[in-house]
Amino acid sequence: MTERIWLSAPHMGVQELGFVKEAFDSNWIAPLGPHVDGFEKDLAAFTGARHVAALSSGTAALHLALVLLGVERGDEVLCQSMTFSASANPIVYQGATPVFIDSEPDTWNMDPVLLEEAITARLATGKMPKAIIPVHLYGMPAKLDEILQIAARYGVPVIEDAAEALGSVYKGKACGTFGRLGILSFNGNKIITTSGGGALIGDDEELIRKARFLATQARDPAPHYEHSYIGFNYRMSNVCAGIGRGQMQVLPERVAQRRANYDYYVQQLSGLPGIQFLAGPPGTYSNRWLTTLLVDPAQSGGITRERIRLALEEENIDSRPLWKPMHLQPVFAAAPAFVNGTSARLFNNGLCLPSGSNLGRAELGKVAKIIRRMWD
Ligand SMILES: *Cc1c(COP(=O)(O)O)cnc(C)c1O
Repeated sequence: MTERIWLSAPHMGVQELGFVKEAFDSNWIAPLGPHVDGFEKDLAAFTGARHVAALSSGTAALHLALVLLGVERGDEVLCQSMTFSASANPIVYQGATPVFIDSEPDTWNMDPVLLEEAITARLATGKMPKAIIPVHLYGMPAKLDEILQIAARYGVPVIEDAAEALGSVYKGKACGTFGRLGILSFNGNKIITTSGGGALIGDDEELIRKARFLATQARDPAPHYEHSYIGFNYRMSNVCAGIGRGQMQVLPERVAQRRANYDYYVQQLSGLPGIQFLAGPPGTYSNRWLTTLLVDPAQSGGITRERIRLALEEENIDSRPLWKPMHLQPVFAAAPAFVNGTSARLFNNGLCLPSGSNLGRAELGKVAKIIRRMWD
């Protein structure tokens, strides 16, 4: 069997091992250390966020964001429905209820019209939502102007889930830096990775300082272990941060490579009847973390996304349906949802293509050829 073509594999540069070796040589094998500080500085410089806390995962970053904004048992948090479950799970960790918002077709992200509908409907039941979590899915910036305007009108803070959008830009500013807080992920499949990791970013120094405090078990200043708050073990290790520092040196290149993948697939496949790519509205710059396509069986002569997925799998090529919306997930069946049918349609007809920055033209060409063949 030929070697498997993966959806989004880690892609190391040349400096990562050197940073990790430095951590070993200095015996900084701890959650904390000079690489953690350095990685935070690199991230702040790249995104333009004033303050950054490097953490053990994107999920941990979201959890801390909710804690910092005072989300508690019985509260409600408005969350994009079409996303990875990690966007919503921390709401439940806090004993709060996620209220899911469907997508709009231009970016596949949170529909601002439904968002406002949800806020007014929840207000009518006497509940002011505690936070709004829009997601920049697959790197495509959400409709931030509209979402932020609504959030400001009702005074609800926004937590931007930019886990998939490091390197994406909305109207000249980095995704993740628009909300009260933003989160990033450096999981193994993301555009850069620390093997596992995440970050909380924002302009409010006090919030990020508190995040670091809570992420290291909330130790009060004292020679013994003194605690006035419930803490977490969510800090990034110095070894992982070393990988991150190396990855930051190649991040612009990784964005360019992923965007070139998208351009190639568009050039090869967009002429096929029934196939559609997501260009994105003007003013958005997507890192194209994953290239996604939609298949309309009514126009493709009956070819479905599932048939494409199986044809690729037969050739040992990894592809995946789009995220299944949270309001359709068994675990969230009881959660309130404001739905327009968009995310369900996307889930039924959408496919993520192999998009790693380490894929060569030979591999991308093989994927395109297998798909094109189905239209012959
Ligand atoms: C990956 C991801 C997360 C979670 O990040 P981890 O680092 O894996 O915990 C959250 N939201 C979205 C949209 C993601 O894709």
